[in-house]
Amino acid sequence: MTGSEVQILPRAPLKDRNMTITPHLLSGAAGAVAITQSLPVAFLIGFFLHFIIDAIPHIDPGTFFWPGDKVKKQTESWPLWIYIFAASEFIIVWSLIILLFKNNPNFGIIMMGGLGGIAVDVIDNNPFRSIRQFPVFKQIHWLHDKMHYDLSPDKWYLGLILQLIIIGISLWVLLK
Ligand SMILES: [Zn+2]
Repeated sequence: MTGSEVQILPRAPLKDRNMTITPHLLSGAAGAVAITQSLPVAFLIGFFLHFIIDAIPHIDPGTFFWPGDKVKKQTESWPLWIYIFAASEFIIVWSLIILLFKNNPNFGIIMMGGLGGIAVDVIDNNPFRSIRQFPVFKQIHWLHDKMHYDLSPDKWYLGLILQLIIIGISLWVLLK
Protein backbone atom coordinates (compact mmCIF):
# COMPACT_ATOMS: atom_id res chain seq x y z
CA MET A 1 0.00 0.00 0.00
CA THR A 2 1.42 3.39 -0.92
CA GLY A 3 1.48 6.46 1.27
CA SER A 4 -1.19 8.22 -0.78
CA GLU A 5 -3.62 5.32 -0.36
CA VAL A 6 -3.08 5.40 3.39
CA GLN A 7 -4.01 9.09 3.44
CA ILE A 8 -7.47 8.59 1.96
CA LEU A 9 -8.49 5.81 4.37
CA PRO A 10 -11.13 6.86 6.90
CA ARG A 11 -9.38 7.59 10.16
CA ALA A 12 -10.30 5.53 13.18
CA PRO A 13 -10.22 7.27 16.54
CA LEU A 14 -6.79 7.15 18.08
CA LYS A 15 -6.87 5.96 21.65
CA ASP A 16 -3.99 8.03 22.89
CA ARG A 17 -4.25 11.63 21.88
CA ASN A 18 -4.05 14.69 23.92
CA MET A 19 -4.11 18.32 23.14
CA THR A 20 -0.89 19.97 24.20
CA ILE A 21 -0.84 21.20 27.77
CA THR A 22 -0.97 24.97 27.25
CA PRO A 23 -4.57 25.43 25.97
CA HIS A 24 -5.96 23.11 28.67
CA LEU A 25 -4.05 24.75 31.47
CA LEU A 26 -4.91 28.30 30.40
CA SER A 27 -8.57 27.61 29.60
CA GLY A 28 -9.03 25.77 32.91
CA ALA A 29 -7.47 28.67 34.80
CA ALA A 30 -9.51 31.27 32.87
CA GLY A 31 -12.79 29.37 33.25
CA ALA A 32 -12.20 29.00 36.98
CA VAL A 33 -11.35 32.70 37.48
CA ALA A 34 -14.45 33.72 35.52
CA ILE A 35 -16.84 31.54 37.50
CA THR A 36 -15.70 30.79 41.04
CA GLN A 37 -13.78 31.79 44.15
CA SER A 38 -13.70 28.24 45.51
CA LEU A 39 -10.55 26.13 45.06
CA PRO A 40 -12.27 22.71 44.69
CA VAL A 41 -14.83 24.18 42.26
CA ALA A 42 -11.95 25.76 40.31
CA PHE A 43 -10.39 22.31 39.90
CA LEU A 44 -13.71 20.82 38.74
CA ILE A 45 -14.27 23.62 36.21
CA GLY A 46 -10.83 22.97 34.71
CA PHE A 47 -11.47 19.23 34.71
CA PHE A 48 -14.78 19.42 32.83
CA LEU A 49 -13.63 22.19 30.49
CA HIS A 50 -10.91 19.76 29.36
CA PHE A 51 -13.47 17.60 27.54
CA ILE A 52 -15.08 20.59 25.83
CA ILE A 53 -11.69 21.96 24.71
CA ASP A 54 -10.73 18.50 23.40
CA ALA A 55 -13.90 18.51 21.25
CA ILE A 56 -12.65 21.59 19.36
CA PRO A 57 -10.42 20.74 16.36
CA HIS A 58 -6.77 21.03 17.42
CA ILE A 59 -3.37 19.65 16.60
CA ASP A 60 -1.68 17.28 18.97
CA PRO A 61 0.94 14.56 18.57
CA GLY A 62 -1.83 12.17 17.45
CA THR A 63 -2.65 14.33 14.42
CA PHE A 64 0.51 13.22 12.68
CA PHE A 65 0.91 9.73 14.09
CA TRP A 66 0.13 6.52 12.35
CA PRO A 67 -2.54 7.88 10.01
CA GLY A 68 -4.63 4.98 8.77
CA ASP A 69 -2.89 2.33 10.85
CA LYS A 70 -5.50 1.13 13.33
CA VAL A 71 -3.45 -1.65 14.90
CA LYS A 72 -0.38 0.47 15.64
CA LYS A 73 -2.58 3.29 16.92
CA GLN A 74 -4.10 1.14 19.60
CA THR A 75 -1.19 -1.03 20.58
CA GLU A 76 2.04 0.95 20.29
CA SER A 77 3.31 3.25 23.00
CA TRP A 78 4.11 6.85 22.32
CA PRO A 79 7.74 7.43 21.37
CA LEU A 80 9.90 8.92 24.11
CA TRP A 81 10.14 12.35 22.44
CA ILE A 82 6.44 12.96 23.02
CA TYR A 83 6.89 12.50 26.76
CA ILE A 84 9.96 14.75 26.72
CA PHE A 85 8.01 17.38 24.76
CA ALA A 86 5.09 17.17 27.20
CA ALA A 87 7.37 17.37 30.25
CA SER A 88 9.17 20.43 28.82
CA GLU A 89 5.89 22.15 27.96
CA PHE A 90 4.61 21.34 31.45
CA ILE A 91 7.63 22.99 33.14
CA ILE A 92 7.65 26.04 30.83
CA VAL A 93 3.94 26.81 31.05
CA TRP A 94 3.76 26.39 34.85
CA SER A 95 6.82 28.62 35.26
CA LEU A 96 5.14 31.29 33.13
CA ILE A 97 1.88 31.03 35.10
CA ILE A 98 3.79 31.47 38.37
CA LEU A 99 5.82 34.41 37.01
CA LEU A 100 2.78 36.16 35.51
CA PHE A 101 0.24 35.62 38.26
CA LYS A 102 2.07 35.10 41.55
CA ASN A 103 0.90 38.50 42.81
CA ASN A 104 -2.62 38.12 41.41
CA PRO A 105 -5.34 37.88 44.12
CA ASN A 106 -6.76 34.89 42.17
CA PHE A 107 -3.44 33.01 42.07
CA GLY A 108 -4.83 29.99 43.96
CA ILE A 109 -7.88 29.78 41.69
CA ILE A 110 -5.67 30.07 38.59
CA MET A 111 -3.43 27.24 39.84
CA MET A 112 -6.37 24.96 40.72
CA GLY A 113 -8.22 25.65 37.45
CA GLY A 114 -5.03 24.97 35.49
CA LEU A 115 -4.38 21.79 37.45
CA GLY A 116 -7.95 20.60 36.75
CA GLY A 117 -7.46 21.45 33.08
CA ILE A 118 -4.48 19.14 32.67
CA ALA A 119 -5.61 16.46 35.14
CA VAL A 120 -7.57 14.47 32.54
CA ASP A 121 -4.51 14.01 30.34
CA VAL A 122 -2.29 13.18 33.31
CA ILE A 123 -4.79 10.54 34.47
CA ASP A 124 -5.65 9.12 31.05
CA ASN A 125 -2.52 9.65 28.94
CA ASN A 126 0.25 8.56 31.25
CA PRO A 127 2.57 5.61 30.53
CA PHE A 128 0.57 3.35 32.89
CA ARG A 129 -2.34 2.58 30.61
CA SER A 130 -3.41 -0.45 32.62
CA ILE A 131 -5.13 1.83 35.14
CA ARG A 132 -7.83 2.32 32.49
CA GLN A 133 -9.32 -1.03 33.40
CA PHE A 134 -10.32 0.23 36.86
CA PRO A 135 -13.61 1.96 37.65
CA VAL A 136 -13.55 5.77 37.36
CA PHE A 137 -10.39 5.64 35.18
CA LYS A 138 -12.34 3.52 32.73
CA GLN A 139 -15.22 6.02 32.55
CA ILE A 140 -12.83 8.97 32.27
CA HIS A 141 -11.08 7.22 29.38
CA TRP A 142 -14.40 6.48 27.67
CA LEU A 143 -15.57 10.09 27.91
CA HIS A 144 -12.15 11.45 26.95
CA ASP A 145 -12.07 9.27 23.84
CA LYS A 146 -15.67 10.14 22.89
CA MET A 147 -15.18 13.89 23.23
CA HIS A 148 -11.83 14.14 21.47
CA TYR A 149 -11.99 15.64 17.99
CA ASP A 150 -9.71 13.75 15.63
CA LEU A 151 -8.26 16.26 13.20
CA SER A 152 -7.00 14.93 9.88
CA PRO A 153 -3.31 15.78 9.29
CA ASP A 154 -4.04 17.92 6.20
CA LYS A 155 -6.19 20.29 8.29
CA TRP A 156 -3.47 20.91 10.88
CA TYR A 157 -3.56 24.69 10.26
CA LEU A 158 -7.24 24.83 11.29
CA GLY A 159 -6.33 23.08 14.55
CA LEU A 160 -3.47 25.48 15.15
CA ILE A 161 -5.64 28.57 14.55
CA LEU A 162 -8.40 27.35 16.89
CA GLN A 163 -5.80 26.46 19.52
CA LEU A 164 -4.28 29.94 19.35
CA ILE A 165 -7.78 31.44 19.70
CA ILE A 166 -8.38 29.35 22.85
CA ILE A 167 -5.02 30.46 24.27
CA GLY A 168 -5.76 34.10 23.34
CA ILE A 169 -9.22 34.20 24.92
CA SER A 170 -7.91 32.49 28.06
CA LEU A 171 -5.04 34.95 28.46
CA TRP A 172 -7.43 37.85 27.88
CA VAL A 173 -9.71 36.59 30.68
CA LEU A 174 -6.74 36.00 33.00
CA LEU A 175 -5.06 39.34 32.37
CA LYS A 176 -8.04 41.69 32.31
ZN1 LIG B 1 -7.39 15.42 26.55
